[in-house]
Amino acid sequence: MISYEIIRSRRRTLALQVTREGRVVVRAPLRYPADRIEAFVRQHEPWLQKKLSEQKERGSALPVLSREEEYACREQARQVLGEKTAYYARRMGVTYGRISIRGQKTRWGSCSAKGNLNYNWKLMLCPEEVQDYVVVHELAHRREMNHSKAFYRIVEEILPDYRDSIRWLKENT
Ligand SMILES: [Zn+2]
Repeated sequence: MISYEIIRSRRRTLALQVTREGRVVVRAPLRYPADRIEAFVRQHEPWLQKKLSEQKERGSALPVLSREEEYACREQARQVLGEKTAYYARRMGVTYGRISIRGQKTRWGSCSAKGNLNYNWKLMLCPEEVQDYVVVHELAHRREMNHSKAFYRIVEEILPDYRDSIRWLKENT
């Protein structure tokens, strides 16, 4: 059973609401019987479950940014990911070409055959270990142009916990 909060007021009908924080609120008339409120909630349980899971999904997805915020993120991405790329490339003993910052919907990064790298500015909204993972992932393609076991061994050598980042990306995007 879903837990809910009852807010009574001088209204005449019942109303159900799911707040932005994911709480269920029933607005009820002052002397409306509690067992009938309960029945009302139960009757709307499928709708509530749907609302609550939508709310949960929205809560974990990345925030929507204004144009200015997006611009700031792009600038920050250029600098932060540029530094990380230089650092990890040295550690991994690989070279790379140009770095571009993009805003693709589903891609976090890519690496061309020539070694040009693309990163998504939305990485600036991810935890730092996820940023590291994407950089190391793309640089590992400088040695293996595939997602073979050998490829992931290279990633793991640098980031032993890289699977946590893959999980984070799956859960949050
Ligand atoms: Zn890849």
